Amino acid sequence: MKTLAYGFPKLGEKREFKSLLEDFWKGKISEKDFIDGMNSLRVWMASLYSGYVDLFPSGDLSYYDFMLDTAISLGAIPKRFGDYKGLETYFQMARGAQALEMTKYFNTNYHYLVPELEGKDFRLFKNIPLEEYKILKEKGYNPIPKIIAPYTFLKLSKVLKKSPTSPIPLYELSKIESQKDMEDYLDAIFPAYEEILKDLASKGVSQVLMEDPALCLDMEDWEWDLVEEVYGCLSKHVDIYLITYYDSVSNYKRFVELPVKALGLDLVSNRENIQNIREHGSPEDKILIAGIINGRNVWRANLKEKLNLVEELYKINKNLIISNSCPLFHLPVSVEPEDSLPEGLKERLSFAKEKLRELQTLKLAFEGDSQALKEVELSERVALTGVGVKEDIRKRIASLKEKDFQREKPYAERILIQQEILKLPLLPTTTIGSFPQTEEVRKTRTAYNTGKISEKEYKDFIRKQIEHVIRVQEEIGLDVLVHGEFERTDMVEFFAQKMEGIATTKHGWVLSYGSRVYRPPIIYGDVHRPKPMTVEEIAYAQSLTDKPVKGMLTGPVTILNWSYYREDIPKHEIAYQIALALLEEIKDLEKAGIKIIQIDEPAFREGAPLKRRDWKEYFDWAVKAFRLCSKAEPQTQIHTHMCYSEFNEVIEYIYKMDFDVISIEASRSKGEIISAFEAFKDWDRQIGIGVYDIHSPAVPTKEQIRSVLERSMKVLPVELLWVNPDCGLKTRRWEEVVPSLKNMVEVAKELRKELVRT
Ligand code: GLN
Ligand code: ZN
Repeated sequence: MKTLAYGFPKLGEKREFKSLLEDFWKGKISEKDFIDGMNSLRVWMASLYSGYVDLFPSGDLSYYDFMLDTAISLGAIPKRFGDYKGLETYFQMARGAQALEMTKYFNTNYHYLVPELEGKDFRLFKNIPLEEYKILKEKGYNPIPKIIAPYTFLKLSKVLKKSPTSPIPLYELSKIESQKDMEDYLDAIFPAYEEILKDLASKGVSQVLMEDPALCLDMEDWEWDLVEEVYGCLSKHVDIYLITYYDSVSNYKRFVELPVKALGLDLVSNRENIQNIREHGSPEDKILIAGIINGRNVWRANLKEKLNLVEELYKINKNLIISNSCPLFHLPVSVEPEDSLPEGLKERLSFAKEKLRELQTLKLAFEGDSQALKEVELSERVALTGVGVKEDIRKRIASLKEKDFQREKPYAERILIQQEILKLPLLPTTTIGSFPQTEEVRKTRTAYNTGKISEKEYKDFIRKQIEHVIRVQEEIGLDVLVHGEFERTDMVEFFAQKMEGIATTKHGWVLSYGSRVYRPPIIYGDVHRPKPMTVEEIAYAQSLTDKPVKGMLTGPVTILNWSYYREDIPKHEIAYQIALALLEEIKDLEKAGIKIIQIDEPAFREGAPLKRRDWKEYFDWAVKAFRLCSKAEPQTQIHTHMCYSEFNEVIEYIYKMDFDVISIEASRSKGEIISAFEAFKDWDRQIGIGVYDIHSPAVPTKEQIRSVLERSMKVLPVELLWVNPDCGLKTRRWEEVVPSLKNMVEVAKELRKELVRT
């Protein structure tokens, strides 16, 4: 039996990856230093892998994103980027003014760049898998090149249909849906894959790791036919180690018949794969890659249980490799440096490095190593149970009634009361909440956290920031103001630190996209709110202005989805616990005179399971959690915000959340979002479709902003529309934010005038 691991976090022990990228972007280091630095990170990763496991890939270190790398390898580069000029073009595609759309990778918080297919002429353009392989090979390692499989690549790509009348970036992207289209695209793309594999084979490569997680989505028979055909062709050139993850494969029988060398299954995310193995066996002429160590959650495995499973699997198929259940980049590098976790928690945790060690221990124990067997015994004892139990919270959850999930008045009545109080103009303008987190803000927070300045000094500083941002917004002429979120590092971590039952780490960074990192909190006990969390800052902001200030909360589903969570109680119960804590906060905000409250749910969609059959259960409790926390007074206007949410498929569930106003990201794929509303005839809620992309430093022109609004006005009644950027502004600089918002407000004012006239 062998061990395999893949997807190790590329960030490095001290976030070296982030520094290299950002220094390079700022021109602080040369291209050569950048590449050298990245290569030493590759070597660091390979040396870690090889210290623990038998098999591991090259290609876990993309400079930005592995989907982008695959697109470039296959020559799928939209024409607007011109001739490919190395890293310059690479980063234009990733983060330039006309960058590719970004969206969440399956049900995770990792964002990939969506390949845009402009035509069908794919070819071997740049063999990135080979380049990565060679670097490690030269250093004496023996990695397996890794690449995203054709089917998954196409499922995650979008076809670019430029509408002749609209200027960039107003173009339309759509998924490949029909059988005919999928057939055509696969036909066009697999020869390019063959070129890549042939090229690899000619350099002595005999095995390739192919990631095909889309095989876990709902699939039709014809899709399986196509996938089978493709693997038949690809397998001629190299041995394919096919891995799937995040869910069970959609058709086990078809899966095990695929003509590949090794078949990888996620045995953690649900029970279906393992039941299928038990029921239908595992063909012994193929290697079974059993993903038994959870790649997404932080708990130490119960190795006793896992060892039993390994023994059972080995009886079924002696060609056995054990591995992580999904890529490890959802985890921080290591628990080692954590020194301030709540008592007893550290021993229970296992991050990426510790997961590698668990695989190694399992293998040694399987071979009868006595030290490893001792560790296996020990690990069983630390399995998490009954930590931080709060009886009163459990009781409150158990006694929830239907009416706890229902606002007192229906929307049609609420809106009248709210408008009476708020008196907002047509096309009200606002922002999503955060304003630039400048170097000064971050430094002052660090100074406070390390005891260099007092709490009073810190609070005074935050007050000054709030006052400044209120004045700036008034000057720009926005209608609904925000306090700027200067006191928050991260929208989830901030609340996690204020709630009990949730731990936060010091070094547990994880990449969400590009160089953006966050530290997911760890929900380990029953969650509650010991005291108000946001009232002080928001009430202060409101005291400075006559315009309404929106209170800002992070929603229960997002807090849960962006945290690691305990596995000893059902997920929905955790969500309800968080929701009750937030409801208490809303009551306090109302008492403080706040009239609008935004409950951000950017991770609402991403928690949805891969298969439609599981959606109802998920959305039922997710919607209920939101409704539970948003049971405000009828006169309080409840906003929510979502980003990258692939709206079309979930709009019915979103509607059930019963908010008054929603703002959504749309600037890189606005056509698609707007079409969702075209299809949903009964839509009556107010909505702000992001009028420009905050992920790019470019200042949007008035024409660009206007075209989004005009487009929206064709589909939705103008009375429902709000005007806002597509997400929070915290990663932008003031020099970008002020002119952008000015343009936005001017466009709104112009449109109002024109609408009155007509
Ligand atoms: N209110 C948050 C902000 O503006 C929302 C961020 C998000 O949706 N990711 O930063
Ligand atoms: Zn957002």
